[in-house]
Amino acid sequence: MTAAHPIVLGDNTVYLVETDGSRVLVDTGPDFRGSAELLLDALGGKMPEVVIATHGHLDHAGLGRWWQERGVPVGLQRADWPLARGEAPDDEEFAALERFAMASGAPSDVAAEAVAAIRARRAWNASARAGTGYPPPGRDRRWPSGLRYLPFTPSAELADVQVPGIELLHLPGHTPGNAVAWLPSEGWLFAGDQLLPGITPTPALQGHHGTEAPDWRFRSFPKFLAALQALRRLQPARCFPGHGEPFGDVGAVIDANLSQAEQRLERALGTLKLRGPLTLYALAHELYPRAVRRRFWQIAATVQGLLDVLEARGLVFEDGGRWCVGQAAARPAS
Ligand SMILES: [Zn+2]
Repeated sequence: MTAAHPIVLGDNTVYLVETDGSRVLVDTGPDFRGSAELLLDALGGKMPEVVIATHGHLDHAGLGRWWQERGVPVGLQRADWPLARGEAPDDEEFAALERFAMASGAPSDVAAEAVAAIRARRAWNASARAGTGYPPPGRDRRWPSGLRYLPFTPSAELADVQVPGIELLHLPGHTPGNAVAWLPSEGWLFAGDQLLPGITPTPALQGHHGTEAPDWRFRSFPKFLAALQALRRLQPARCFPGHGEPFGDVGAVIDANLSQAEQRLERALGTLKLRGPLTLYALAHELYPRAVRRRFWQIAATVQGLLDVLEARGLVFEDGGRWCVGQAAARPAS
């Protein structure tokens, strides 16, 4: 008998997956005030043999240390270990994000606000890692208190976690070490943040954390789309997302995400053809005129993601902070 028991912890859903001969928890659960007690209650004494975290974000891996202290090993893909260990994002990455805002072409007041937001995030990150009490809940009240993230070193690289009947697939994009759990016998996909009901997630601007990249920045969105294509080929029957309720008709949801991405890519390319060359901010302003001032980082991540895909397809290139249509002229050898 194979069964998946969803356990809702604030905005997150983790899953106890029971197969013949194994009991696995997908995602550690987030560390808010009372979450560990809720989790123990829901498990009713059925402790998992192993916990696998789909990626290193705090709402998916935040209770990693707590599980290890109870003798339960926690697996995480190696590229996200810097997140779990509290080594990323580091000072250099925060500084790079500040430079990104300053170089984006944003008006000085918008750039200054974006830098202030990064500094606030940096301070908040430090307090979440320190484990001195719980931060207050965010304005959106996704969890009853703010989240902590006590640093831990995962017990195993995901590829070395052996669970009969479950495949752990490394699909970088959402983060460098993002992964999903796949049960081919049932067609069940445990998708973490890769595939969510009702929204198309956009990966945030982030460092590569030691994985291959031309500079500090991990090119998330091209890989995120490739991951969706890979999941499409699996033809999952049912998706168990890291937030919200399980859903069927998975292929249709993946197709909707992919076609929305293609529409956005076409719009971005069309705008550059018509009005380019443009800075990142100018392009974001053309595409999202109302939102870009208020939600700089979200929109900047979305538009940079589109540019990364178009660049990878050889359709645009950057020249002195402006994005141009076509391919960069070969530079003369010096
Ligand atoms: Zn995430």
